[in-house]
Amino acid sequence: MIPLRHYRQELELRHTFRLARGASDVRQTLVLELEHEGLVGLGEAAPIERYGQDCDSVARAVETMAQRLTPPLAYDSSVVSVAVPGEPAAEAAMDMALCDLAGKRLEAPLYELMGIDPSQTPVTSFTIGMDTPEAVAKKVQEAGEYEVLKIKMGSDEDREILEAVRGVTDRPLRVDANEGWTLEGAQSRLEWLASMGVELVEQPLPAGQLEEMRELRRLSPLPLFADESVHRAADIPRLAGAFDGINIKLMKCGGLGEARRMIAVARAHGMQVMLGCMVESSLAITAAAHLSPLVDHVDLDGNLLIVDDPFVGVTVKGGRLVLPEEPGLGVRLRG
Ligand code: MG
Repeated sequence: MIPLRHYRQELELRHTFRLARGASDVRQTLVLELEHEGLVGLGEAAPIERYGQDCDSVARAVETMAQRLTPPLAYDSSVVSVAVPGEPAAEAAMDMALCDLAGKRLEAPLYELMGIDPSQTPVTSFTIGMDTPEAVAKKVQEAGEYEVLKIKMGSDEDREILEAVRGVTDRPLRVDANEGWTLEGAQSRLEWLASMGVELVEQPLPAGQLEEMRELRRLSPLPLFADESVHRAADIPRLAGAFDGINIKLMKCGGLGEARRMIAVARAHGMQVMLGCMVESSLAITAAAHLSPLVDHVDLDGNLLIVDDPFVGVTVKGGRLVLPEEPGLGVRLRG
């Protein structure tokens, strides 16, 4: 058995986070430290409540996975052989720790290990949570250097919120409906959003409504991205024709290896790729950021939405992600 330690960390949100499904002020994630040959690989799991996960289920899953791990530890295949079904966040954390260990062993940053050019990182969008139109406008003004803003929608006040945003900025906007619309209402909303300078819309309809999505896409003036409709690479072929692109999150798919398979499958189907996140510290955000040069759109702001990030890793300069050059993930505890 490979020695594993794990602990919970509380992440306090800058603003109460409102989505179509509820609100919260604090998120818990689980941090892993996987020890092998004198090195420590770090990983982080942000459990997704919507799919029945919490820190307890993640902790059980990572312990099970650690018991199943046997050397040699291969960063691209070990996690596949030990994964616990239904616990992708735990799988992602274990995968990150294995990648971190491999990079530290070879003394190379993860992007280099994966053959990725760190100079090609895209700009990241910055999420503005649902709130009153006045509060939303204030959040936009606080979003300073971010060139692209992502607006969460799905309430009765969508129009007022977007008008409030447009009243204070002319930056490109992306909209995330978080499954909140119906086919009947969506078409006119999309036309209006296009006229307001929105560049893409994420998950307009509930995850299961693929036929409705096909119809909506035929009528939509804007590219439509799947989030809740896509978890892993195997989900992608049936989405072709229903969506223009996919949103990959490590916590949904189970880690960097699966994320790379998703990018390849999406490309093979002519689809665009966005890289997203949950509320996570700089540990998991940095892991995802190593893949960012491979995608079209980046929405890696989970660490920017919290007050007291325990880790230091990827940074943002002029709205663009800057990858750390240290070995592995290049992440350390904020000292
Ligand atoms: Mg989303």
